[in-house]
Amino acid sequence: MTIYFNNGVYADKETMKVSIDDRGYYFGDGVYEVVKVYDGKLYTAQEHFTRFLQSARKIRLDLPYTIEEFTEIAKKLATDNGIVEGHVYIQATRGAAPRMHNFPGEDVEPMITAYAIQNPRPLSKMKEGVAVKTTDDIRWLRCDIKSLNLLGNVLAKQEAYESGCAEAVFVRDGIVTEGSSSNMFGVKDGILYTHPATNLILNGITRRVVLKLCAKHSIGVMEEPFTLEQFKEMDELFLTSTTSEITPIVSIDGNSVGDGAPGRVTERLQQVFEETIHELKMEIN
Ligand code: PLP
Repeated sequence: MTIYFNNGVYADKETMKVSIDDRGYYFGDGVYEVVKVYDGKLYTAQEHFTRFLQSARKIRLDLPYTIEEFTEIAKKLATDNGIVEGHVYIQATRGAAPRMHNFPGEDVEPMITAYAIQNPRPLSKMKEGVAVKTTDDIRWLRCDIKSLNLLGNVLAKQEAYESGCAEAVFVRDGIVTEGSSSNMFGVKDGILYTHPATNLILNGITRRVVLKLCAKHSIGVMEEPFTLEQFKEMDELFLTSTTSEITPIVSIDGNSVGDGAPGRVTERLQQVFEETIHELKMEIN
């Protein structure tokens, strides 16, 4: 039995009902978050739920819970479902109302659904690295919002999978923005490069952890747009996300990155990232 959360009620997934008129279903009119669970504990929950509320505000959706309340919901789901290593998924839509593009009346409540699921860390990919494929960034201009509207991302990921790649790299006007469900990083001469946190990317929580770790460990960072040509000439590439953590990229569009093995700076960052997980496990809560 998997226990889900549905607008205040915790119950078995099979008993949960969502209206066919839900605006998430019609329009993708909602926002979401994914929070990683290590050793039964939530990793960077505060950052995730802060972004959740920010995403909601950006689409003019008032959420009925605070960051602390969302954290409690996520904790309860992880605990009640016995999740040791996995993640909590949570989404909010603008609720159910007969289909029309403009917002429904004030009486329509947002629909909040969430679940926790076991999901082991992708350790072999993290060790060996993955292949990626570049594709046009056809998405809208508010990629900073973690919106349910993921059609551009879905099509890109599928294109990558069909080419035997683990991730798609979005390129907009010759500039590498991010992955279909990850942020992109390159290392050249020991300096880390990543797209700045503008409207063209999602400012990943893992991305932010990596940037903090760089500051702490004196690794130079350039948050500046870089071209696909520059990206392909980096010494090392890696991607980050809540579930992929720090995953090296060893090939891009069929060509090896560096010497075709995970790079030194990437491995160093993986090591210090691991320490943050260890610190979480040591925390008493
Ligand atoms: N960019 C996109 C488009 C994403 O969908 C994601 C995660 O799903 C990320 C970046 C990485 O964000 P985070 O590190 O918060 O998981």
